Amino acid sequence: MTETMKAQALVVPLPGDASVLRVHEREVPPPGAGQVRVQVAAAGVNFIDTYQRSGVYPVATPFVLGMEGAGTVESVGEGVSEVSPGDRVAWAMQLGSAASVAVLPAQALVPVPESVELDVAAAAMLQAMTAHFLVHDTYLCDEGTVALVHAAAGGVGQLLVQLLKAKGSTVVATAGSADKLQIARSRGADHVIGYHEHDPESLASAVREAAGRGVDVVYDGVGQSTFDASLASLRPRGLMVLFGAASGPVPPVDPQRLNVGGSLYLTRPTLGHYIADRDQLLRRSSAVFELIGSGRLEIAIDSRRPLSEARAAYEALEGRTTTGKVLLVP
Ligand code: NDP
Repeated sequence: MTETMKAQALVVPLPGDASVLRVHEREVPPPGAGQVRVQVAAAGVNFIDTYQRSGVYPVATPFVLGMEGAGTVESVGEGVSEVSPGDRVAWAMQLGSAASVAVLPAQALVPVPESVELDVAAAAMLQAMTAHFLVHDTYLCDEGTVALVHAAAGGVGQLLVQLLKAKGSTVVATAGSADKLQIARSRGADHVIGYHEHDPESLASAVREAAGRGVDVVYDGVGQSTFDASLASLRPRGLMVLFGAASGPVPPVDPQRLNVGGSLYLTRPTLGHYIADRDQLLRRSSAVFELIGSGRLEIAIDSRRPLSEARAAYEALEGRTTTGKVLLVP
């Protein structure tokens, strides 16, 4: 296939809030060497998109938004052996995913088994692979582990709770409303705490009281508003995993705070380093698809919207009204 294709794409013309987003029609070229052209079935909405759209993570404008998706291979470029036309594939960490057609590196594509729907695969790529590395690699969670999960009714949060419970760990979950706490409980959380009812000191006390001790590991994707309480919730030599900043970036930290807290550890992990080569990407994505296909991991899909409703999709994510994955369906 050597012709260009017409496609719809979600474009960021200039940095800004969700109101800057525009849907443009454009010509997509045939795939070059090592590339694949994909008909996109669904693209995921993620917090990283908001950091890129607003300029917190600088990207030269204009650019097509979206870092994950799933779809069907339409054509392959020279030298591509990883996939063939007609294959069902998914990908993560590829800018330009929010479009009806995308040209992607073959190395970034993973096969989607028949047991997993394409929209579920798109929903799983960033959030579920993230929850997977956090529970299996950043900290080796097992039945003796007591973990604190913030924003536990969110996309990553619900997945963390499920994977921790699958390991037999004890989960203390926080969220911002009674309805969200109910969702965290339904995913298996042992203890739930509304962090909107606490200041950092009383939140840490509530966590310690619920857990019966300081926790072994904190999974904090909220950032600025929870960071202090997270450190104060840890046992001596516990691990603070700061994996995001939904409430804003955490100010610089004095290392002495880790000493005072009890020889604590602090890490700021990101998915890219846990799928750093093709072997890791294939192993982690197939592990996640296996869990989903066998019914042991449920992907909560909050909503599916056309590209033309992308502004509302991002406003919902940033406005804390979603509970699970928001998908754009081109
Ligand atoms: P969520 O579905 O968890 O949405 C974010 C949630 O954070 C909200 O629903 C809200 O829950 C809570 N929150 C607290 N304060 C705020 C605030 N001021 N503004 C917005 N939300 C707030 O999102 P995701 O699951 O997609 O992502 C969660 C975090 O994980 C993000 O920080 C993201 O950047 C990070 N992430 C990191 C990755 C990595 O590789 N390190 C990969 C993927 C995601 P509530 O109302 O209960 O407080």
